[in-house]
Parts: sequence; C-alpha cells; structure tokens
Amino acid sequence: MSKKVLLIHTGGTLGMSRDDDSGTLRTDKLYDSLTGFIPELSEIADIDIEIPYMIDSSELTTDHLRKLVRTIKKNVDKYSGFVISHGTDTLAYTASALSYMLMNPTFPVILTGAQKPLSEIRSDARANLINAIELSTMNIEEVAILFDDKLMRGNRTIKSHINHFDAFSSPNYPLLAKTGIDIEVYKKNILKHDGLFHIFEGFDNAVSVMKIFPGFSHSCFEPGENIRAVIVIGYGAGTIPIDNSGIPEKIEKWVSEGKLVVLMSETKAGKLDPGIYESGKKLLELGAVDSGDMTFEAAITKVMFLLGHYKNLSLIKKNFRKSLAGEITVN
Ligand code: ASP
Repeated sequence: MSKKVLLIHTGGTLGMSRDDDSGTLRTDKLYDSLTGFIPELSEIADIDIEIPYMIDSSELTTDHLRKLVRTIKKNVDKYSGFVISHGTDTLAYTASALSYMLMNPTFPVILTGAQKPLSEIRSDARANLINAIELSTMNIEEVAILFDDKLMRGNRTIKSHINHFDAFSSPNYPLLAKTGIDIEVYKKNILKHDGLFHIFEGFDNAVSVMKIFPGFSHSCFEPGENIRAVIVIGYGAGTIPIDNSGIPEKIEKWVSEGKLVVLMSETKAGKLDPGIYESGKKLLELGAVDSGDMTFEAAITKVMFLLGHYKNLSLIKKNFRKSLAGEITVN
C-alpha cells in the first residue's frame, strides 16, 4: 500500500505563472492542476494537498511559520511524511525555524521549491517535487531541503545561487541524501533523536542585525529598547574593528541591559574562532556569544525561538550554544 503524504503548498516560483502583459511572476492556483502536470506523483505516494497560505516567500513572517506548524500538527496522525513547496528566497529560514518548532520529528518534513515555474519549459519544479515526495516516504526523521538532487539538513542550508538550478548548499554539514539513478541515503548523517516529538510555537522577533564593513559608523546603529538580541556580523573567524570604533563600548552597554549579543561571520563556510584574535576575544570577554558553524538563517531563527521561550539571558545564551536540532557542531 502506498504511503500517505501531505503536500503543503505555500507559494513561491514553483507554483507561479507569468502575467501576459507585464511578464512578472505571480502566485497562482496552479496547484489545482498539479496532478495534471505531474501525473506520476500518484504512483509514488497517496498525496493530499493543503494550502495554508500562498505568498512570494519574501513576505514570510513568524505568523506564517506558526500557520505552517499548525497545518502539520493537525495532520500528524494522518500522514507518514510531509512535503512543503516554498519560495526559494526564505526557504532556508523556514526550514531552520521548523527544525526547532518540530523537535525530534518522527516523520520526514521535506521542503522544496523551484527556480522556474512548473508551467514553464525546462522547469526544475517537476524533478524537485518528484524527488521530495519520494524522499518523504523514506525513513528520514528530519526537516530537510531537497533541491537539485541534493537532500540537505534544513538548518544547515543556505540559498547560494540566484540563477542556477543548483541554488542551495550546505557549507558546514554533509548531504543527507543524493538523488540520481538511485536515491542514496547517507544514514550516518541523519539526525539521531534523544527525546520525544514535541511541537513549539513561540517566537519573539525582537532581534536586530548589525553588519560590519570597512568604514562602518556605530552611530548609525542603535537597537530600540524593545530589542532583546543583537546579531553582530563581523569578518572571518569573528573579528570586528575595535580601535576607536566605539563598537566594544556599545556591546558592553547592550550586554549590561540584558540583551543577547551574538557574534557571527560574513564568511559562510567554517566555524568561528573569535579567541584567536584580539578583537573577537574582547567581544567574548564583554559577554557576546559566538555562533560556531551555524548559518545565519539557523542562528537568527534560533535566537527568535529562544527569545520566545525564555526570559532569562543566561538560559538563552546557554541554549544558543547547544545543538537543538543538529544546527551547530558542538565538541
Ligand atoms: N521570490 C520567490 C519566492 O521566494 C523566489 C522563488 O520561489 O524562487 O517566493
């Protein structure tokens, strides 16, 4: 008997159609005719479709994330796997957020999207959807992203190309599976859970981001009083200018106000090592916490998730450095 899979469509290029007059892509009810475009989907699984909302994913908010999780929550006993079709722009944010909201899942949640709409020739939507559905029938208890033949842990993934079909990568964690003539699942890379499945919905978006660049003036950046966390994006192993920049003083002030200060790097691959340079070391001494080898998407959604669940700064800090869903390498 074929497995039951719920396909949750949320919008994005995959289901868009081109406006004849302007030529722009717009969300469309294309999904009504999904089985017409890919009739063989029904050979892989018994598929139902739900559309909790339909947006260009650049419109994504934490309310959308909650709606998405509720769609899974109310269907959790009816399906053995879930596929989410999503715009590529914020796909990695949704996958990261879901990995915390659906803690220790006992089923696969496979997110996918496309660079070209399903209705257009040479679209990547067809292969991505078929592969995502097939993977959702397998024993992969993770929130993962399938894109262009690669299955990646969702909270390790970034959108790394605007134009290529090979648009996503996982700079700091190996693939979970590869789809070719056969599907190769790399079991040793799949998350091993050590707790019960639990759904969390809390998020607090009181977080601000300060990106450093040569010439940055700290006077241009002041987080509001309601902001509870600041992510500082510096360079390389975790450096920022400290000579007469005024930034360490600001960070000291934010920490004394009870704000979480996270040090990240603009460099996508590798792990921060702030202690090896004077500036990074100083920030840690002032009370900042570094993001290890987390992606920006995983780190910012984790901060919002932790702010939504804890009031106490030291608890937030401690949990930020823990692996909640395989998003950080801890040793
Ligand atoms: N702007 C689109 C979205 O993220 C891009 C895409 O789906 O590829 O919804």
